[in-house]
Amino acid sequence: MSSKALSTWVEVPVNSDFTIHNIPFGIYSDKSVKHRAASAIGEYIIDLYELAAAGLISVNREVLEQIVLNDFITLGKPSTTKVRQEIIKLLSDENSELKKNQGLREKVLKKQSAVNLLMPVRVGDYTDFYSSMDHAVNIGTMIRDPKNALMPNWKHLPVGYHGRASSICVSGHSFHRPKGQQKPADAENPVFGPCKLLDIELETAFIIGKATQLGDSVSTAEADDYIFGMVLFNDWSARDIQTWEYIPLGPFLSKNFASTVSPWIVTLEALEPFRVKGYEQVPKLLPYLQYEGNKNLDIKLDVILKTQNGEEHPVCSSNYKYMYYTMEQQLAHHTVNGCNINVGDMMGSGTISGPDPSEYGSFMELTWRGTKPIKLKDGSERKFVNDYDTIILRGHCEKEGMRVGFGECVATVLPAKP
Ligand code: MN
Repeated sequence: MSSKALSTWVEVPVNSDFTIHNIPFGIYSDKSVKHRAASAIGEYIIDLYELAAAGLISVNREVLEQIVLNDFITLGKPSTTKVRQEIIKLLSDENSELKKNQGLREKVLKKQSAVNLLMPVRVGDYTDFYSSMDHAVNIGTMIRDPKNALMPNWKHLPVGYHGRASSICVSGHSFHRPKGQQKPADAENPVFGPCKLLDIELETAFIIGKATQLGDSVSTAEADDYIFGMVLFNDWSARDIQTWEYIPLGPFLSKNFASTVSPWIVTLEALEPFRVKGYEQVPKLLPYLQYEGNKNLDIKLDVILKTQNGEEHPVCSSNYKYMYYTMEQQLAHHTVNGCNINVGDMMGSGTISGPDPSEYGSFMELTWRGTKPIKLKDGSERKFVNDYDTIILRGHCEKEGMRVGFGECVATVLPAKP
């Protein structure tokens, strides 16, 4: 049966991100459940522990009652893919035990709005790349030289840095505006205080599904075996702190105070139908970075600003397909020196900007360093993010009636702690 022919007996609202083609993985809690693995369909979560207890999916239920998915993912793709296929079958088969048994159905399907979605994995290590050419050109034009916006290495390797895992939070959290050193352009000495230029970075991240040993390298051809799935990722950034601190070793305190991820991991299998051709990469890359096939992805991305009064304002729309380097190239580069990776490691794409100014993935670019403020419907302006602003990322793929989405990645900024 072709995947396009799939349907489900569960009612799925039009434009739901959680169709039968998706079947992502996450962790939930509610009044009676401390933490369990789940999937999603329409407006419901699917309690995978209950499915396993009823013998309807082939997985040891112990790995489904952990606080994170790491043990489940460690079972390996043959096992997790089989579970996903079994869930799809239960939801599409009109005669499935899940459909027929009302008592079981009530234990398994719970309204997403009635549960809490928790951080899906324990992130051991987090890396962030810088792989959108439009973003790199915009930043290089702004802070260096419009004629030489890209550094000489940029088209030869996916530039990245090691970030901090401890401050990665799941959607729905709030955090205090960071404080730190800034050096105003006209001042001789640095000052200390709350960040004035708090920014977002519209990103996705991929999650490692298979560990390597120190010394091993993953080729571009093997990379997909090591990528479990993707999430939306908001890499919050303090631009004024960053400008002063980043020379010569790169971002530090301007990036490690908070990052937000969406709660559902959309598997690479679910994203496969949305593969598109990648950028033509000129000059030619070294052999270890070359790859074959369509390895980019057509994922529509949106950023919405919700002001304190609850009004939503569209900020930008971009697309993952604007990435110059693919995830497979990023992973091949990350491991080419023998750096080992672990299940749950998270690798950020870098800010994803498109060629049109409405497709820029940060306020830094959208307002061109604050020189062109964004006008909101209520008449107010934004150069960067204000206290009590909520930022919402959304992302989905759509093709021939198939839709696979990520849900939302939401966080609210609180005033700096006194
Ligand atoms: Mn970033």
